[in-house]
Amino acid sequence: MYTIDVVEQILEPKQLILANKDSIITHLVYDSRKVIDPVGSIFFALQAVRDGHRFIGDAYAKGVRNFVISETSWVGNKYSEANFFVVDNVLGAMQKLAAHVRSKFTKPVIGITGSNGKTVVKEWLTELLGVDKKIYQSPKSYNSQLGVALALWDLNDDYDYAIIEAGISLPNEMDNQQVMIRPDIGVLTNIGQAHASGFSSKEEKAREKVKLFSASKVVISPGKYNIRDFLNPNVANFTFGYEMDDIVQLSSVQEHKELGQTWVTISFQQQQGIVYIPFTDRASIENALICVTTLLYLGYPIADITARIAKLKPLEMRLQLRKGKNNCSIIDDSYSNDLASLQIALDFLNQQQQHEKRTLILSEMEGMGAKVKEKLTKVLRGQSLYRLILVGEDLEFLEGAVQTDVLLYASTADLIAGLDALGFADESILVKGSRAFHLEDVSQLLAAKTHETVLEINLHAIEHNLKQYRSLLPPEVKLMAMVKAFSYGSGSFEVANLLQFNKVDYLTVAFADEGVELRQNGIELPIMVLSPDEQAFEAVVANRLEPEIYSFRILRAFVDFLKTKKVSSYPIHIKIDTGMHRLGFLPTELPEVIAVLSVVSEVRVASVFSHLVASGDSNQDTFTRQQIELLNAGADLLQAELKYPFMRHIANTSAIIRWPSAYLDMVRLGIGLYGMDLDQATLDLETVGQLKTTITQIKELEAGETIGYDRKGVLHRKSRIATVKIGYADGYNRRFGNGVGEMMINGQLVPTIGNICMDMCMLDVTDVSVFEEEEVLVFPDLGKAASVIGTIPYELLVGISSRVKRVYFYE
Ligand SMILES: *Cc1c(COP(=O)(O)O)cnc(C)c1O
Repeated sequence: MYTIDVVEQILEPKQLILANKDSIITHLVYDSRKVIDPVGSIFFALQAVRDGHRFIGDAYAKGVRNFVISETSWVGNKYSEANFFVVDNVLGAMQKLAAHVRSKFTKPVIGITGSNGKTVVKEWLTELLGVDKKIYQSPKSYNSQLGVALALWDLNDDYDYAIIEAGISLPNEMDNQQVMIRPDIGVLTNIGQAHASGFSSKEEKAREKVKLFSASKVVISPGKYNIRDFLNPNVANFTFGYEMDDIVQLSSVQEHKELGQTWVTISFQQQQGIVYIPFTDRASIENALICVTTLLYLGYPIADITARIAKLKPLEMRLQLRKGKNNCSIIDDSYSNDLASLQIALDFLNQQQQHEKRTLILSEMEGMGAKVKEKLTKVLRGQSLYRLILVGEDLEFLEGAVQTDVLLYASTADLIAGLDALGFADESILVKGSRAFHLEDVSQLLAAKTHETVLEINLHAIEHNLKQYRSLLPPEVKLMAMVKAFSYGSGSFEVANLLQFNKVDYLTVAFADEGVELRQNGIELPIMVLSPDEQAFEAVVANRLEPEIYSFRILRAFVDFLKTKKVSSYPIHIKIDTGMHRLGFLPTELPEVIAVLSVVSEVRVASVFSHLVASGDSNQDTFTRQQIELLNAGADLLQAELKYPFMRHIANTSAIIRWPSAYLDMVRLGIGLYGMDLDQATLDLETVGQLKTTITQIKELEAGETIGYDRKGVLHRKSRIATVKIGYADGYNRRFGNGVGEMMINGQLVPTIGNICMDMCMLDVTDVSVFEEEEVLVFPDLGKAASVIGTIPYELLVGISSRVKRVYFYE
């Protein structure tokens, strides 16, 4: 907690506009939608994709009274009760505060960086050390310039160790990270190719990374990276590896796939022993060895480390949204529990609009001291929960401290025993717990059973892709997100909730029933319907859906319908056919459209639009330009007659990249949102959907045998064949049969063999090592998969059948 005086001393603002010098700061906020405790919050107007100054008014309206800004022009005299710290660099100011919080911590800080594995190592170290120590860790992958500043904020001396992860995406960022984190003990996971952008060489990258450790006592690293020369002379390098000069010596590494273990013989000083690492993939082994080495450095004996390492599990680090029983939505986030990650999860819970009732199931936190208890109470007071279910006796203090009724269970087993009696129905339920509490067992019981083929949807990737496209648009251009065809196969309200939270301006569906489903699940954004038919008018109006009007027939029918309902000025969207020749008025029909519109009061034109047929194809640029001109001419004509303003729009995903002149008032973002980079490498998009299935059975078969229907898959050698649970009824096209399609198991590509069946198909796994029940990635490369069967990624995505369950996560 900080007083205004102290904040002033730390930030040294160039100007301070003071309204209330008695404010006490307890929370950092940079997003006005995520204010939990307005009175105790300080809002940082960061310059990101959108300028944070634009949200000062919103934050103020919510009760925030302290602001850090760089532009005073936004302030005027509107906010008479607020304090403003005026600085040159708002993010820099947040980092100064973080560095100050860090400087008050007197116990060891472990700082982790590396190209891959840093989040896993952070989580594992927390788990391994958490057996006998109180650990403070940065939440999720909060490792950016902003993430680290936020991650340090709650650090205090109740903890024995702080474990903080640092990442960099550009040269020279590590200096800032070092100033904030100042790790006593450094951990370098690896120096890979990942995030290579911006660095000229691997050596430059290594030099940049070790800057984090410029004032550390020691750096723990794999010996093979030879970072000694890059470290300051007074920083020790505590390495592991096979070389004579490695401090922790590895002598044999044996993989036991059948046990799912790797046995590693290590020696250190006078000790020798074997650790049984419960993984067999290279990355996990390396990450586990880094943890082993760190524990050795901290003085734990090998026998103790062996016992702890054996209990490690692969990380399910993701917050998952699944369909639950009795029409519930289950958000599972049960791998760690601290204040920062609780807030992230609560933000996500609050985005869910599909149920009015929101329930939180919460376990004790890691290292819960008095300060954490106080903050937790505040955070929970700021929530409007339907019920609060607590697990762990240490949470008893919350009874009576929050306005929600509290149900307290001593243990996860007690909760499970009483689960049925709680009668969950029509609720969004956040299950948030520390690993030790294993609340994932509770989520499992609440979730509806799933077919083992799932389409995993990364909601964070959708958010990321949205930001990427937005960054290209001037602020006045609106954005319509296409959620037709089940959001290109990715789901309906789950995706729409996220888009609504991220303030897109419009949504578009193909048919009225898709729009009805969104409304029933709490989506309030304007929704355009591309193909409204007469039978659906009732539903259209009842659900405030806005139809595309593309012909005189549909225009008259809709006007007649509105007359019977005595509705006037209903928003419609006029579609002009500028060359697609699908739906829409031809430009020659517009005078008659205008004649009709100027005499009816039932409808009001919300927009005039058209669709580009080949905006991604440079050979068709002349045609595209002509389409844009035709739309503008048509819209000009309408605007001359209609006395009110309306929007015009024509740009789809490819046009956002290639045709800035087509942005007009609004763009319509479709496939790009779902991560398909059709114009290679212009933007840094993330993959949204991963179709996954599992191996049901593996067989050894002799040469000459055949596989599947019609004996099409002939074995020319002794082979191993795996059957997987996906077929053409799931959307795995039959043309992928007989080696045309490739799936991926454990990083290895394997071809199909024989014809694809309705619910299953077979893979030739002779050359790779795989096991029954292993996970299989169905489309390791969606673009390639589409092209080998002569289609486009759109068709594969929307073709994934609705019986394939969608599992959403937010990473
Ligand atoms: C599907 C669709 C879009 C989006 O196209 P993408 O190429 O996926 O961006 C835009 N406008 C209309 C009318 C559409 O039907």
